[in-house]
Amino acid sequence: MQLSELRQRLTALGAGPLHAQRVLRHWLHALPADAGRRKPEHHFPKALFEALPALREELAGLARLRAEHPGEDGSARLLVALRDGQTVESVRLPRGGLCVSTQVGCAVGCAFCMTGTGGLLRQLGSAEILAQVALARAGRPVNKVVFMGMGEPAHNLDAVLEAIELLGSVGGIGHKNLVFSTVGDERAFEALPRGAVKPALALSLHTTKPDLREQLLPRAPRLTPTELVERAEAYARATGYPVQYQWTLLDGVNDGDDEIEGIVRLLGGRYGVLNLIPYNAVDGLPFQRPAWEKAADIARRLHRQGILTKLRHSAGQDVDAGCGQLRARSLDTGER
Ligand code: SF4
Repeated sequence: MQLSELRQRLTALGAGPLHAQRVLRHWLHALPADAGRRKPEHHFPKALFEALPALREELAGLARLRAEHPGEDGSARLLVALRDGQTVESVRLPRGGLCVSTQVGCAVGCAFCMTGTGGLLRQLGSAEILAQVALARAGRPVNKVVFMGMGEPAHNLDAVLEAIELLGSVGGIGHKNLVFSTVGDERAFEALPRGAVKPALALSLHTTKPDLREQLLPRAPRLTPTELVERAEAYARATGYPVQYQWTLLDGVNDGDDEIEGIVRLLGGRYGVLNLIPYNAVDGLPFQRPAWEKAADIARRLHRQGILTKLRHSAGQDVDAGCGQLRARSLDTGER
């Protein structure tokens, strides 16, 4: 379901803009049905009032918790069942963050990613993206939403932008706490500056070498790392939010001296921060995680050369993490 479709249904039930806003706020903040009693819903048009219980049930059915795997770092990986039985993953991050999925599967086919191995199965509707937030909020507060779960947000651009706009308004999330993550797509670079809510941008770079990037991200748009950084930089300067460059560290692949020198050339003086994320190994894929000391040494060397670098644990490493692995395991065990 798309949010626009939901809005149309509310209008058809007689909802004015404020009624619709109240219904959406109620849903997105996971408020109990009796919340806001001082403004009773009998102020709603009769048709809307009568339709509300069924509508609430329908919205709750957009994303249901199938399994939750808590990690030691305060994160938790959620396996989320959609109405048609497909599943996606969300990840609760420490300190109120939530990582959501935007597609079932993904067409980019990153060579190191479990989700990428199966291709794209279907798009998520904007309401399904938002439903992951509502579901997570039923457990605890969410004050940051990153679009870094399964799928490439730029490949489901209208739905993701629609979700971002609602989260940044009725959803109560600060705009810089909405993070649009992409492998780099011209359509996203064009659309993001035009939005009423402008999210922060995360760009999955992974290498400074165009040839290697083509191998690692075989179906990403053919923009070179230099072109990507220039496009991202322009957006960051316009919004005032630094670019979050994502770099999955793959042992012996993109963690050598040549890449360190390339990063210094590419990102030196840029308005951004480089997040180094040691890889979570995936069964059947030929990549390994570098030793933590090696990763820490890379971060130190980059820092010394003026590149703002953060070495990050990928949240939930101890809960079978790595994009798409929880879903894959549930498919293996017939859980779906
Ligand atoms: Fe898609 Fe992200 Fe996996 Fe690449 S890493 S295949 S963009 S889900």
